[in-house]
Amino acid sequence: MKPSLEKLKKFFQLESERGFDNHAVLGGMERMLIHWEPEARNDGLPEDFIQAVASRMHDYAQLSKPSRSEIIHGLLRRIQKLEEVYAQENVMPAPSASTSEQIEEKKPSPIISKPPPSKRETPPGKKVDEAAITIEPPGLEAEATILQGVGKRNAQNLERLGIRQIRDFLFHFPRRYVDYAQLKPINRLKYGEEVTIIGMVEDSRIREMRAGQLKATEAIVRDASGAIRVTWFNNPWLAKRLPKGIHIALSGKVDQYLGRLVMNNPEWEPLDTKQLNTNRIVPVYPLTMNMTQRWLRRLIHQVVSYWTPRLPDPLPPSLRQRAGLIEYASALQQVHFPDSWDDLTKARERLAFDEIFFLQLGIQRQKQSWMEQTARRFHMSDEILLRQIESLPFSLTQAQRRAIEDIRKDLDSGHPMNRLLQGDVGSGKTVVAALAISIVTSGGAQATVMAPTSILAEQHYQNLVTLLTQPAEKAIFQDAPIDTSNTFTLQPSEIRLLLGATPEAEKRQIRAEIESGAVKLLVGTHALLEDPVQFRDLQLAIIDEQHRFGVEQRAALRAKGENPHLLVMTATPIPRSLALTIYGDLDLTIIDEMPPGRIPVETHVLRPQERERAYALIRNQLEAGHQAFIIYPLIEESEDVQVRSAVEEHARLQKQIFPQYNVGLLHGRLRADEKEAVMRLFHQGKYHILVSTTVVEVGVDVPNATVMLIEGANRFGLAQLHQLRGRVGRGAAHSYCLLIPETSDELENERLQAMALTNDGFVLAEKDLQQRGPGEFLGTRQSGYTELAMINLMNIHLIEKARRFAQEILQADPRLIHEEHRLMRQKLDQTWRGKLSDIS
Ligand code: ADP
Ligand code: MG
Repeated sequence: MKPSLEKLKKFFQLESERGFDNHAVLGGMERMLIHWEPEARNDGLPEDFIQAVASRMHDYAQLSKPSRSEIIHGLLRRIQKLEEVYAQENVMPAPSASTSEQIEEKKPSPIISKPPPSKRETPPGKKVDEAAITIEPPGLEAEATILQGVGKRNAQNLERLGIRQIRDFLFHFPRRYVDYAQLKPINRLKYGEEVTIIGMVEDSRIREMRAGQLKATEAIVRDASGAIRVTWFNNPWLAKRLPKGIHIALSGKVDQYLGRLVMNNPEWEPLDTKQLNTNRIVPVYPLTMNMTQRWLRRLIHQVVSYWTPRLPDPLPPSLRQRAGLIEYASALQQVHFPDSWDDLTKARERLAFDEIFFLQLGIQRQKQSWMEQTARRFHMSDEILLRQIESLPFSLTQAQRRAIEDIRKDLDSGHPMNRLLQGDVGSGKTVVAALAISIVTSGGAQATVMAPTSILAEQHYQNLVTLLTQPAEKAIFQDAPIDTSNTFTLQPSEIRLLLGATPEAEKRQIRAEIESGAVKLLVGTHALLEDPVQFRDLQLAIIDEQHRFGVEQRAALRAKGENPHLLVMTATPIPRSLALTIYGDLDLTIIDEMPPGRIPVETHVLRPQERERAYALIRNQLEAGHQAFIIYPLIEESEDVQVRSAVEEHARLQKQIFPQYNVGLLHGRLRADEKEAVMRLFHQGKYHILVSTTVVEVGVDVPNATVMLIEGANRFGLAQLHQLRGRVGRGAAHSYCLLIPETSDELENERLQAMALTNDGFVLAEKDLQQRGPGEFLGTRQSGYTELAMINLMNIHLIEKARRFAQEILQADPRLIHEEHRLMRQKLDQTWRGKLSDIS
């Protein structure tokens, strides 16, 4: 959802709760606009909405409370409508098809004022040397200022929209379209609907409000059926441009004022009869300040009509045909200036396919190049493996057995393993990792495990020592004398832990033992990467909580050995469509079964006014000797504010609510060693309650914690809530997860109820994807994706189709050297140049 919209809603709800005293915002509601307006534009909220909010807030202080109430509620309704629209758009906008008449070709005007600065520009019309065609014809990189009418100031405005070069115009896609074939007569308008009307300006004038402080343009627009009053707030200069008698088209929401239908701040343009005949479906672009639809539309029209015929199609005709796609040039034309809704749909299909196809092609190519490398084989016989499994303190789940089988095959394949092991918190990934380690170390090589925090690394170290070193008595019971070259048992001294905080003398010792090969397994944090430690023979690298590490770190760890096998583990459930895209270069194993006997965490959604109940439950649990987490969300983008609210809440909880207990505080502003110290005290039970921002998300095991209270739960995605919930319920005791949203909003409560209904992380992740889009999962990775790609990442059918064709093509032509794949390869390289580092 759009952050600025959320924020606005929050302001208004607060104002409503305060009884409309104009104090929800310090200094009065009007003050809010200073920051909100630019944010809203940045988010691409409709200009008419922004204007409506602005004009109403300007007057707000002067109004009586009943009027304020009316205004706030009216705006809240509009916010809700907008949210519905955005929610729908997220599900992939598919406008209803309608037929259209034959359209007269619009002559492209001579558009380039100066020739593009490239030397290799081919004069239009001249036959081009085929082999010289490149995926990006020269000139596309030219600055926007080469266009007539784009000066320095306009260029700056364009840049705010992300348009700097000619190319960027092509990819500045319309926000929506207006269909002039679907016009409504004025007497048939209904309150609240979004419409386009055409009429004649019967009267227009400047209106002064608030004793002349605020000026608006007011016009009466009439068509054959009736008339409507239209107001543009804050916009007195418009009056001049709307002389009596001019015909205009208006698009916007039908509003109400004193019982009459009106339009406020609609988008408008003088009616161009030619346009009516040529483009019945007209694009509406995201704009920024000092820019009109007409102006930008004309520029884009120029660029599109000049450049698209010059753009070669990166997909060969054979592929286009099999995938049922229209040509690239035509897709770009139609997405801007569609001939019909049907053509628009086809254009979008084509562009969507390309976005995902080139991602998939890159991922598959990456995977393929890994597959071509060789790696040492490690083999463990069934007998030894089974014996080892039997010696574990518990019997493995079927899912764990399958995971081990996958890994065992990888290790014996002769190619480096690249596997992602995905399993919910507590599903037992560590023991799977332990068996992988033992396969490799029993083959005489070394392994390493990297975790994101010292506490986690220590936990792994202890667990792995327990799992991999067999007590002497146990060895006695093992039948048959063990062939030492084949033993899977490590000595405790063969496993070491390396942290940033490890004393230098000890580090030196560890380095020496790693170099000599005396140490077989090294567990640590990213200190492993920074340390000059050199392995004698590293053959297996394991990364836990993979999403906490970037690709570079993955690569750096890998570089500590020569083509070592790689196993990455994550507890973050990722919907299948995303996993195929983000982690498509890795083979995927999912542990979808929990060890038996785990009691599901009892989850409740509470209303804000029920907070006392939550505290009472925490008190009960603390009295029984347990511990609790209390999580606060990121309230503002500003970290200061977040820290302040956690700090304040912490003080309040400690002083007023839980004075007899120790309450710890953890937030992002603490230094790493301070964080570690707080976590450690909580782990040791010295703190009874841990108040925290979301930094605790990382998988730390505190089995004694039985309550997870999450404040502001409405701000979290379900997948993230599920992650947080996974911090409790790790011991034998019954555990609770309490979710408190900021308001009693029914819809929000309903969304959160999903948490009470299921403990399945994948189900929740899938719901999240549908409700909140992929941003949640991509995190920092999303930087390289366009908005279109983000939407497409939710479309599993499209992803599977693109994936299938990518595989097919690489199978037939692994290096993409066939002539018909030449442009495809160029485009692939170009796509991945900037993006590869964000992915995988
Ligand atoms: P995660 O997948 O979150 O890393 P862990 O590997 O830490 O999970 O396992 C969670 C707990 O479950 C550990 O205490 C581990 O010993 C235990 N465990 C793992 N597998 C089984 C099993 N098959 N049966 C019973 N307990 C298990
Ligand atoms: Mg784990």
